[in-house]
Amino acid sequence: MLDKTKFYINGEWTNPSQKNEFDVINPSTEEICAKIALGNLEDTNKAIQSAKKAFQTWKETSKEERIKLLEKLLKIYNERYDEMTDAITTELGCPKDWCAANQTSSGASHIEDFIKRLKEFNFEPGFDAGSKNQILYEPIGVCGLITPWNWPINQIALKVIPALATGCTMILKPSEIAPLSGMLFAEMIHEAGFPAGVFNLVNGDGAGVGTILSGHNDVDMVSFTGSTRAGRLITKNAAETIKRVCLELGGKGGNIVFADAYPEAVRDGIRNVMSNSGQSCDAPTRMLVEKSIYERAVKEAADEANKIKVDLASKSGDHIGPVISKVQFDKIQSLIKSGIQEGAKLVAGGPDKPEDFKKGYFIKPTIFTDVNNNMRVAKEEIFGPVLSIIPFETEEEAIQITNDTEYGLGNYLQTSDKEKAKRVSRKLRSGIVYVNNQGADSGTPFGGYRQSGNGREGGSWGLHEYLEVKTITEWQ
Ligand code: NAD
Repeated sequence: MLDKTKFYINGEWTNPSQKNEFDVINPSTEEICAKIALGNLEDTNKAIQSAKKAFQTWKETSKEERIKLLEKLLKIYNERYDEMTDAITTELGCPKDWCAANQTSSGASHIEDFIKRLKEFNFEPGFDAGSKNQILYEPIGVCGLITPWNWPINQIALKVIPALATGCTMILKPSEIAPLSGMLFAEMIHEAGFPAGVFNLVNGDGAGVGTILSGHNDVDMVSFTGSTRAGRLITKNAAETIKRVCLELGGKGGNIVFADAYPEAVRDGIRNVMSNSGQSCDAPTRMLVEKSIYERAVKEAADEANKIKVDLASKSGDHIGPVISKVQFDKIQSLIKSGIQEGAKLVAGGPDKPEDFKKGYFIKPTIFTDVNNNMRVAKEEIFGPVLSIIPFETEEEAIQITNDTEYGLGNYLQTSDKEKAKRVSRKLRSGIVYVNNQGADSGTPFGGYRQSGNGREGGSWGLHEYLEVKTITEWQ
């Protein structure tokens, strides 16, 4: 078992002010894989004060100095790539091959992309031709960065890298149930030689360190990724100090499959939901299928779900792992049962663990059909390998059902008609629309409408989140 009870504050690994240990559980085995400490007010204050002090000099560094350090970090990340995969596989239960190709790679690709955007970024863009007014972009200050467990290094890189790039200093609080990747990332930042106090890491839970960060007077901005529930609490707590609050929250994506969709569209949609064991905020968990192809789609969906193997994260090959925790396992089981009770038809998977697994939080890939949008399985974010299929007759009806949710993160649509794709994309209320299951390019903005959050991460949009805008008249 790993001892990870130190925090990274002011360039050093330091002991917590009080012993307050917390077990990190490997979801494949249900065994304790590491111990961390949960920080308190004293630890968090220490980190905030170190970030505040470091901001005075870090904000004055040139773009070139920061690029050099980020390039060093990228090199170290790639050298320690396998260690990162091991950390995520252990804390999240994500199968190692898939983890290396998707989770670990996301960290490297964000560092790479932000370096590119920073090189292109003009911190003194001026105003309109003829104006003597100058616009300056300046770092916002000390940032509290709070991240979830489901794409741990992806979320950390999307916050830490633009904060570093723009000249901000920060305190990262990774998810307490998957903190190992964040702690390894802190080691890499140390190795790259960022000045003491620029980056700090304090482990803790939401009620403790998370709440201290969002309410603190010396924290200028909080960037949070996680549940809409916690996003609401953070917004309220941050209001007193009027800090900037950027939120990347939950989702309940619709996936409209028109009759003219490409032949593999339904099967791809099933694989999209089930990958990462359904634990992705933009997973297309409501599949809307045009009535004329409904029967075929249901057969294909069930067949595809039954083909998906469930196995240990430590095994090589193409399979999904367990979900992260007992809490998530129980929540997903209860939602599967609610689907059955509310009259949805189960065509694959179902409640209880797959046979062969006594240990581990494993769930059967589960498909419900004949779902309507009022059922809990269609309304609530399940965050597990569970998909609901809903029939529709017209384009208008498909748009109405897709938008009938409090969320607005990612929607999907499948059609070979280019004009229809444009028309429907414009009508869908979400931060991203994936057309024909095409992924987004690196550096495109990511974020949500409505209760999926505010702000956008990634690329130059991600840099803007960490910047203040200043106008100076008479700039000669
Ligand atoms: P969570 O909200 O329980 O926790 C996320 C983080 O916030 C953790 O570090 C936690 O300790 C902290 N936290 C919890 N309550 C807090 C509070 N009151 N104040 C401050 N911090 C608090 O979410 P989770 O279970 O870790 O992650 C899953 C959720 O994250 C899902 O809803 C998912 O959709 C969402 N998510 C969204 C995106 C996105 O980009 N929109 C990406 C990944 C995950």
